[in-house]
Amino acid sequence: MVLVRGHRGPAGVAGPPPGPVAGVGYPLPIDGRRAEGDMGVGDMSERAILRRTAELAADFLETLGERPVGVSVSPDELRARLGGPLPEVGEPALEVTERLAREADPGIVASAGPRYFGFVIGGSYPAAVAADWLTTAWDQNAGLYVSAPAAMVVEEVAGGWLRELFGLPASASVAFVTGATMANWTALAAARHEVLGRAGWNVETQGLQGAPEVDVVVGAEAHVTILAALQYLGLGREGVHVVPADEQGRLRAELLPSVLAECGPRTIVCAQAGNVNTGAFDPLEPIAAAVREHGGWLHVDGAFGLWAAASPELRPRVAGLALADSWTTDTHKWLNVPYDSGLVFTAHPAAHRAATSVSAAYLAATEGGERDGFDWTPEYSRRARGFPVYATLRSLGRAGVAEVVERCCRLARRVAELLAVEPGVTILNEVVLNQVLVRFGPAGTAGDERTRAVVAAVQRDGTCWLGGTTWHGQAAMRISVSNWRTTDDDVDVSAAAILRCARASQTSATR
Ligand SMILES: *Cc1c(COP(=O)(O)O)cnc(C)c1O
Repeated sequence: MVLVRGHRGPAGVAGPPPGPVAGVGYPLPIDGRRAEGDMGVGDMSERAILRRTAELAADFLETLGERPVGVSVSPDELRARLGGPLPEVGEPALEVTERLAREADPGIVASAGPRYFGFVIGGSYPAAVAADWLTTAWDQNAGLYVSAPAAMVVEEVAGGWLRELFGLPASASVAFVTGATMANWTALAAARHEVLGRAGWNVETQGLQGAPEVDVVVGAEAHVTILAALQYLGLGREGVHVVPADEQGRLRAELLPSVLAECGPRTIVCAQAGNVNTGAFDPLEPIAAAVREHGGWLHVDGAFGLWAAASPELRPRVAGLALADSWTTDTHKWLNVPYDSGLVFTAHPAAHRAATSVSAAYLAATEGGERDGFDWTPEYSRRARGFPVYATLRSLGRAGVAEVVERCCRLARRVAELLAVEPGVTILNEVVLNQVLVRFGPAGTAGDERTRAVVAAVQRDGTCWLGGTTWHGQAAMRISVSNWRTTDDDVDVSAAAILRCARASQTSATR
């Protein structure tokens, strides 16, 4: 039968579902005219629904700082609230929205708030949320210039601004993808094209079977999504050459030449700007020199660390960045743009395009030869995700981007200092960026247990949220500061909560 969405009687009361309408793929009211209910808006206008939704969103954002940061609801409670059978007859959009906001609420993590220090998350700037709403309303398909001209031009403009902010070559290609995982994939697909192309092999048409061998080199601390990209690209996660890392997780550049000596002429090297645990930067200058000497492609995963390049204070940490062949970063992390939003740049536009381009007879190029989004990304139909990035950059300006990056780093140092004064607390990393690793208690099993207990207690406490990790074989608390809303006060209150939990865990341990 045909499901009729939001089909309502005059008083907004659900009427009986109409019978099937032969050959009609969309809902029609019984009398053959389109009823108001077809839009799913019931008795409300679309404007009224959007206004009310804006209120619901503002209510959420205004109370973000006061919400408990963790979520305590059980999965079954969420299923009870949100589950049940698919309604036979549709419900009006406003009712659906109100109900969603109400029932999902206990399961919404305040990760966009000022005291969420888990993973590397970031929040959303007002300009970013606003542009994201417009992006949704406009519903452009940014795969093609002809279906989304403003979106394509905005990606071009914002891409150019970002190249400049990061100090990348003006000729570098740029693409807006879902996140750093697909940015890594795109960069490594371009690298695969280039190194095989130099051997006369077209990997896009010929595939990998029978292809000349490709060597991939990673640092021991490469992000898992580099390995995932290699997995998707048929290059394999396990056949890689691994260069040992130092105590901060930096690729040991002095060992790279001997690893490269074992590699053939088609080599891809993956370096990192911003280790997910310590925030440390691989030394890009000597790495680039070694890759240049050997020949090959150098990729830099800077999902959050690349933003150091946008700060005059931190820029020296990424010296040599522009010598690489490709770069990855996220805008949904440190630029505080909503998910999903990542970026890839390459110094080889032809290789980039060859790796990701699609073509079909009905996709004739536009007259002016304008850029089509789907030629540069692993997607075909795609969200116009340049708008929120563009709006955020405009609202911050060059100075604002540098300021938020530097502020987060300062706050990371502040929380480290506040915690370090407590006896039995050790900061395990050099706090060079926005990441802090904290250890409670002695080395060994007792300290591991205590550290995990403190992390769990902080998560229950609800003042702030942070996660645990394992660093050099020992348990550690991991704090990441990457939200524009975080203030000195937030850091002070959070450090106090962490120390309170640490003291309580010590008391219970000695009991
Ligand atoms: C977060 C992160 C990724 C993956 O990024 P997504 O946006 O989650 O796909 C890759 N590399 C590093 C260093 C990261 O921090």
